[in-house]
Amino acid sequence: MSGKKRSEETTPEDTAHLSHAPEHDISEDKISRVGGGKMQRRLRRYNIRMLIASVAILMALCAVLLVRIQDLNGTIGNMASQIARLTGVAAQQQEELELLRTLTEELSAALEEKLSDGGKEAAGKKDGQAGEKSVEASTPGITAAHKVYLTFDDGPSDNTEEVLEILDRYGVKATFFVVGNQAEQEEEMLKKIVEAGHTLGMHSYSHKYSELYASVESFAEDFTKMQNYLEEVTGVKSLVYRFPGGSSNTISEVDMKEFARYLDGQGVCFFDWNISSGDGGSYLFPAETLIENCTKNVSKYSTSVILMHDSASKSTTLEALPTIIETIQAMEDTVILPITAETSPVQHIKWQENEG
Ligand SMILES: [Zn+2]
Repeated sequence: MSGKKRSEETTPEDTAHLSHAPEHDISEDKISRVGGGKMQRRLRRYNIRMLIASVAILMALCAVLLVRIQDLNGTIGNMASQIARLTGVAAQQQEELELLRTLTEELSAALEEKLSDGGKEAAGKKDGQAGEKSVEASTPGITAAHKVYLTFDDGPSDNTEEVLEILDRYGVKATFFVVGNQAEQEEEMLKKIVEAGHTLGMHSYSHKYSELYASVESFAEDFTKMQNYLEEVTGVKSLVYRFPGGSSNTISEVDMKEFARYLDGQGVCFFDWNISSGDGGSYLFPAETLIENCTKNVSKYSTSVILMHDSASKSTTLEALPTIIETIQAMEDTVILPITAETSPVQHIKWQENEG
């Protein structure tokens, strides 16, 4: 009984003591030692298994983590490209907004001008209208309430001859704002324009916005070249100018007022337009549209400057021109005239010092 109890309660001290114990106890001791060894082995095996299991679990976790990280990387990559795309879209929308804003500004400026043009009684204050009155006074015989100026930009071209023929047919004088570098092949046309009694205006020598509007110096260089060239070919010094893109163009980074003041200093007047035929873009509008655009507002203005283009691709302008002239000639108290240095200008921008 006592031996059994001892074996049950074996401790390291007991084991030491047992080495001097009587014979009959040894087998029990052996048994307990053998049992302890088994336990230890089992424990070791258990520990090893646990260790292996832990390592396996850790590796599995690492693998899962790696997969997740890769997933996340992919997601982040996707998000980055989406953000880049959205940024691009936002930038584009910003640009479109800016464009809309300038267009709105231009429109409201044009509307303002038209409204003030409409109120004829309120004239006098504006330089333009004061000028217009003096023209009326200084041009005997022209007392019409509505003066219409047909203007053709970008020529001479393959169409010029036909434009001249149509104008001649209706006994109408117009204004050609020509471009210098392309007139070199059409110098005969420049002479014909002048000989037929039309006004030869300048539309720059190069018509290259980036060069022309780079600085006042480059503008002056182009202007001088153009004015001299036209005088050499035709013997006439041109005194009227139309800015490529108009004075309200949004391409020039130099304030257009500076160019306007330069021209003024040269004794040259620039003309924009208050009626656009719509033939300026790359889309070719049908003749009916051009006729409608050119004629519908003429009776609202005392001065109508109509913008058209003289260039080979503008076939519908040629098509529309006879009807445009006929329609205007049929209007009451309306006359078609060429622009002269004395014509009251239609200008999109205010550039004189006192006009702010
Ligand atoms: Zn042009």
